[in-house]
Amino acid sequence: MSLIRRIDLRGADAASVDYRTSVPRAEFDVEAATHQVQPIIDAVRARGVEAIAELSERFDGVRVEDIRVPREALDRALAELDPAVRAALEESVRRLRETSEAELERDVTTEVAPGATVTHRKVPIDRVGLYVPGGLAPLVSSVVMNVVPAQVAGVRSIALASPPQKTRGGLPEPTILAACALLGVDEVYAVGGAQAIAMFAHGAGPCRPVDLVTGPGNIYVAAAKRLVRGVVGIDSEAGTTEIAILADDSADPAFVAADLISQAEHDPMAASVLVTDSLALADATEVELDKQVFATRHTERVRTALGGPQSAIVLVDDVDQGVQVVDAYAAEHLEIQTRDAAAVAARVRNAGAIFVGPWAPVSLGDYAAGSNHVLPTGGCACHSSGLSVRAFTRSMHVVDYSRAALADVADHVVTLAEAEDLPGHGQAVGVRFEPGRSAQ
Ligand code: NAD
Repeated sequence: MSLIRRIDLRGADAASVDYRTSVPRAEFDVEAATHQVQPIIDAVRARGVEAIAELSERFDGVRVEDIRVPREALDRALAELDPAVRAALEESVRRLRETSEAELERDVTTEVAPGATVTHRKVPIDRVGLYVPGGLAPLVSSVVMNVVPAQVAGVRSIALASPPQKTRGGLPEPTILAACALLGVDEVYAVGGAQAIAMFAHGAGPCRPVDLVTGPGNIYVAAAKRLVRGVVGIDSEAGTTEIAILADDSADPAFVAADLISQAEHDPMAASVLVTDSLALADATEVELDKQVFATRHTERVRTALGGPQSAIVLVDDVDQGVQVVDAYAAEHLEIQTRDAAAVAARVRNAGAIFVGPWAPVSLGDYAAGSNHVLPTGGCACHSSGLSVRAFTRSMHVVDYSRAALADVADHVVTLAEAEDLPGHGQAVGVRFEPGRSAQ
């Protein structure tokens, strides 16, 4: 019995088959999860910390009376942090800070006519709420991925939440607290899942509402972000992990299998998808999966993820068809393990992040590539971007015209105002040029 199903798209073409409905997807999706999550949002909005305490007891098995993590707990966690983990975190921070600083956009001023300027001004978001998962695994790396771009963007007020742990007296995992202390974040809440997103959006107890919520999480976290969007900004629906690998017969099946497993390890609902034009690679990858799945630590979780409807080996005729299929899938993570991988990667239009060739596995990006691991899932990569310094800034146009510059364009403004039957718009310009008005 195979660990992963196959979908055969050989002989199909984009004109006759809609690849978006042919690619594997989970049956229980974010839309379905919103029905379970809406009551959680409503409860936190109506009853604040009292509701959070009940929800933490129900979902995390621990009742937390004071959701704000004390400063001493953050300092203690940092003092007790394994030096090797600290060194790895510091290198991860260094690389991400470097890319974030390079990606920070500068203000742009355009003179559209003499004395008429429009400036595209970038302003950091004032207050953000960062989510760090801690259900199945303590994602300390997500502290780095959220906090570093927020700090580089110049965000003034940063709050962070991660699930309370039963075995830690209701505090989040110590490595997560240590990473917060390392980065100088001291507003930390022991709140997980949808209730954390609701707390950020609506405020609860000591947590004031934020302007933007970012960060990865499971399907309930993604559903909560979908539901609060508009009340606050969100980065993207960075939900349950997905990996797609586009590979030809030049790929090493041991690498392909290991990478599929590395992301299946995140969640029983995670998606691992191999798209290949090589039957030999498909067969060899299955053999490797059989070998490696049983040697991995989270065997059951990985088996469940690989065996779910969201995972598959997809057979295609050639790499060209493979590119169309991965574009339709719009994976959170896309690896290209083909000949001329960089050229193939350059043709891809939809992916959260692309990993080129055999020496850039997704797990490098999870921790220390210098890229961000908070990425859109569920096909959202066709309209949303991964987290970056840009998510933490807004922009505004600043319009600055001299009297002469306004006079120069006044007729056009009045004409368009008349065309829209909004003469008051035209008059707001005309009044400025009436005889006797100041020319200053
Ligand atoms: P999590 O912190 O995201 O979720 C744990 C919380 O889920 C719990 O505190 C609980 O409140 C809530 N929850 C659990 N069952 C629930 C239910 N039935 N109804 C409502 N709420 C419920 O931690 P996790 O579960 O380990 O998930 C981490 C997720 O983050 C994984 O799915 C992983 O794939 C994903 N991830 C995504 C990205 C990305 O950028 N897309 C990056 C890293 C990780």
